[in-house]
Parts: sequence; structure tokens; C-alpha cells
Amino acid sequence: MKKLGFGTMRLPLNDPKNVKDIDVAQTEKMFDLFLDSGFEYVDTAYPYHEGESERVVRKALVERYPRHAYKLATKLPTFNLKEPEDCERFFNEQLEKTGAGYFDYYLVHCLTTDLYEVAKKCRAFEFVSRMKEEGKVKEIGFSFHDTPEKLDEILTDHPEVDFVQLQINYLDWEAPNVQSRGCYEVARKHGKEIVVMEPIKGGSLVNVPENVKELLNKMDPSMSIASWAIRFAASLDGVRMVLSGMSDLAQMEDNLSYMKDFRPLTDDEMKTVLHAGDMIRKTIAIPCTACEYCVAGCPQHICIPDYFKLYNERQQTLSHGKSKAYDELAKTHGKASDCIGCGQCESMCPQHLPIIENLKKAAESFE
Ligand code: SF4
Ligand code: SF4
Repeated sequence: MKKLGFGTMRLPLNDPKNVKDIDVAQTEKMFDLFLDSGFEYVDTAYPYHEGESERVVRKALVERYPRHAYKLATKLPTFNLKEPEDCERFFNEQLEKTGAGYFDYYLVHCLTTDLYEVAKKCRAFEFVSRMKEEGKVKEIGFSFHDTPEKLDEILTDHPEVDFVQLQINYLDWEAPNVQSRGCYEVARKHGKEIVVMEPIKGGSLVNVPENVKELLNKMDPSMSIASWAIRFAASLDGVRMVLSGMSDLAQMEDNLSYMKDFRPLTDDEMKTVLHAGDMIRKTIAIPCTACEYCVAGCPQHICIPDYFKLYNERQQTLSHGKSKAYDELAKTHGKASDCIGCGQCESMCPQHLPIIENLKKAAESFE
């Protein structure tokens, strides 16, 4: 199978302020191009687009193509589980929402230290294994956001999983809050194949600083900046798939152009790309991927990733004081200073960011 998967967590929108209002017509064209080019792997999940991603996958893919034309992955929403019976309830709801009949890949979603305890309490691994035995799922795995030590523990407890999904990109390879390299090595030690998520780190590895752009362009000016990130992940041994959360046709065309006949990076290219990661890490104040996992449960309705994006942009332009964009957002959301420090968001953040502390910085800067 070609090594690029279509991640459906950032689909094109009709209204950029409403993540549920997906541009279905453009999404259909994206699926057409993806499948016509010989790619197959489609990744969705229960919470993407606040529940709409799985529905749009049904409209734009499942109802328009025969079942053998694609492979579909979705995930058990660990963060919504309260008791063992919930696993079956969510699974049936997902089968109904997608209309897919079965899932090629089914993952326990977003395991961290805390959510692994929830998964244990709700017998999530036993449930996904049962779905595999019953033929409703072809392969099982889990997506993971924690330390290499925790990954080692989970893979020791659950050798039955077929694969793991890890956040791997050249920026996080050596980042202490993500430890991509450490997690990658643990997965390989256990002999597991890897599906890569966030290869472009939520788009951060598209808009890289000028000096990094120059460095990458020097190697091959015909390759897009994003291509270095996708090809870095795809070049690692044991990586079976790289998921890219493509948001429009142009991004898809770019991704397909170099993944159609994929050529792994050379050793020298790998070294240069990792050096680029070191250079970028020095410039990012808050390494937020805009995944939005922190947003839904915030009692103050603070648009956390939007404020972090503005804050990061500000660090690069070295501007100060009032910001029109911030004031506009604050009209319809809580301000950064409205944070009451309840910590709900931090417990959800896959990047383990000190969100409360960072909101204080944003408030100081913008308010
Ligand atoms: S700590 Fe602040 S930002 Fe986080 S959920 Fe609570 S109120 Fe919202
Ligand atoms: S702060 Fe964390 S959870 Fe929230 S959007 Fe950023 S990376 Fe995701």
C-alpha cells in the first residue's frame, strides 16, 4: 500500500469559524483524487470536526465507492468512556455513522498515562480484540501521546496489538515534551509497525522560518517545504503509513506528487532535516498543534489554540500591545485572562503543554 494516509481531522470548511461546517463538495474531489492516484488509507475518529468527520467520510467516501476501494481507520474515544459497556455503544454508533460495515483498523484513541487507566477500567483492549475476533475490525492498535516508558509498559501489557500510531516529525524527534525518537525506538523494540500522525505538526512545518526554508530549498528547490516533513516520517524503518491532515485540494496535490512514487531521504538529507528541526525549535514559543482537544471542556470557552497561534506569530514579528485579531476572538470566546486554572485543558493536551501558564503570557501580551 502507498505510504500516505488521508487524515480527516482538518477537512476544508465552508465557514472557517465553524469546524462542523465541512465543505463536502471539495472533500469529495479530494477523495476522488486520492483514490484515483492509487492511495487507500483513510483515517478518521469520533471527535474530529466535533463528530462530523465520520459522517462526512460516509457521504464523501463510503456512499460513493465500493468497500474494497479504500481502507478505513477510526478510533474508540477513550476520553468519553465511563464504563465497559460504553465501548460497544460507541463502536456501534461509529459503524452507523460511517456506514462502513467494518473497520480495517480500529484504535484505542489517544493513550496517555491517565487515559490508559480509563482504557483498563473500561476493558478497551479486550473490547477491540473481541471486535477483531468477530471480524468487525481487521487490525487493532492504539494512538499514543506520552513517554517512551509508558509506551513500553502498554506494549508489554498488550503484545496483541498489530500496530501503534505515534506523533513523529522532524521537529519533535528530539523535543523533550514529545520524545518522538524515544517512542519510535520503543515501538520498534516491540516489533510493531508504526502509523505516523502529525508529520507536519499541525501545519507548523509548512510555514517554517526563512533560514530553514533556505536550508531545505538548497537540497532541492523543486520539493515543497511540507514534502520534507512527510518524507522524513515515511523514510523511517517500520513506518507503514504517514497520515497527513490535508485541508484542500492543493495540499493533496502536493502530498500526492511526492508520495506516488516515494523515494526515501538519503542519510545526508535526514541529517539536514533534523538540523532544520533544531533550528525551528529555538523559534517556537508555544508548540501547540491546534488539535483542539483542550477546547470542548473549557468552562470559560477560551479559544486556546487560536490565542497560542497569535502569540507565536507575535514572537516572530516582535510586536506588542493590542491586537485586532485577538480582540475579535475575545468578543465571542473567553479572554486568556478568564482562565480559572481548573486544569481540564491540560489533562487533554497530547503535547503536555502548560496551557494555564501560557494563557497568562498571552493575557499579558494581548490584554
Ligand atoms: S484551566 Fe483555564 S483554559 Fe484550561 S479548561 Fe480551565 S478555564 Fe479553560
Ligand atoms: S493546547 Fe494542546 S490540546 Fe490544545 S490545541 Fe494546542 S496542542 Fe491541542
